[in-house]
Amino acid sequence: TRGLMNGKRGLIMGVANNRSIAWGIAKALADAGAELALTYQGDALKKRVEPLADQLGAFVAGHCDVTDGDSIDAVFKALEDKWGKIDFLVHAVAFSDKDELTGRYVDTTSDNFNRTMDISVYSLTAVTQRAEKLMDDGGSVLTLTYYGAEKVMPHYNVMGVAKAALEASVKYLAMDLGPKQIRVNAISAGPIKTLAASGIGDFRYILKWNEYNAPLRRSVSIEEVGDSALYLLSDMGRGVTGEIQHVDCGYNIVGMKAVDAPDI
Ligand code: NAD
Repeated sequence: TRGLMNGKRGLIMGVANNRSIAWGIAKALADAGAELALTYQGDALKKRVEPLADQLGAFVAGHCDVTDGDSIDAVFKALEDKWGKIDFLVHAVAFSDKDELTGRYVDTTSDNFNRTMDISVYSLTAVTQRAEKLMDDGGSVLTLTYYGAEKVMPHYNVMGVAKAALEASVKYLAMDLGPKQIRVNAISAGPIKTLAASGIGDFRYILKWNEYNAPLRRSVSIEEVGDSALYLLSDMGRGVTGEIQHVDCGYNIVGMKAVDAPDI
């Protein structure tokens, strides 16, 4: 992949620490020669993101909370001032109250439903609107989704409903921006132990279940998601848009428990 992203520049949103999926993507892009900008959410994460940005020689484009449009504008202004244009955007952002990532979906509150949708769904459209203005030569936008959008997964609840809406957003954005040669895709990643995942009830059980039952009989790594992201964000993926690409060791094709799967 060396040199695949030479001359390409882009923004990665969603690095919280070195276990973040966004970090796996950042490493793959930097290895391939891309110039990166990272954002962080709040001062607590600033301290974690700055040293990671240093490792990759990435530009720290500042604080961004996607519920605050001014903070999104400030980041895109910083990118415009620094580079004038960008070639890609990675959106690896989601949030829901962990009290509702357990138990029953039917008990979801209106407040948390709206907040989950705002942060985990609308934010893709909000950042893509800004990115479009910096993608005169075309570009590639990528977000992260999960199988809980397609099938009911224990405790995923309102986040499953949000991911279904996110996947539909990918398709509508792909259609709107296609004429400008801006591609919009999602990776549907298998479960990975990250900060966000630790908020999901019985996450370890879900991870084990995947390891025992996915065709590859293991869980996916952030490096593997990063390499698939590289394909979609580089010219290798130039014919692909509106796609929901599963990077899950094949789990999504499975119809029932593997006969050799041990009890958990
Ligand atoms: P993570 O905790 O490392 O990353 C989540 C990021 O979202 C953090 O950087 C956090 O700062 C950011 N964020 C949350 N609220 C925000 C806000 N209001 N404004 C700006 N940023 C905000 O966890 P992750 O698992 O790497 O999550 C990245 C993406 O991958 C999410 O969309 C998640 O749903 C998705 N995903 C995760 C898994 C998994 O098993 N970990 C599987 C499939 C999809």
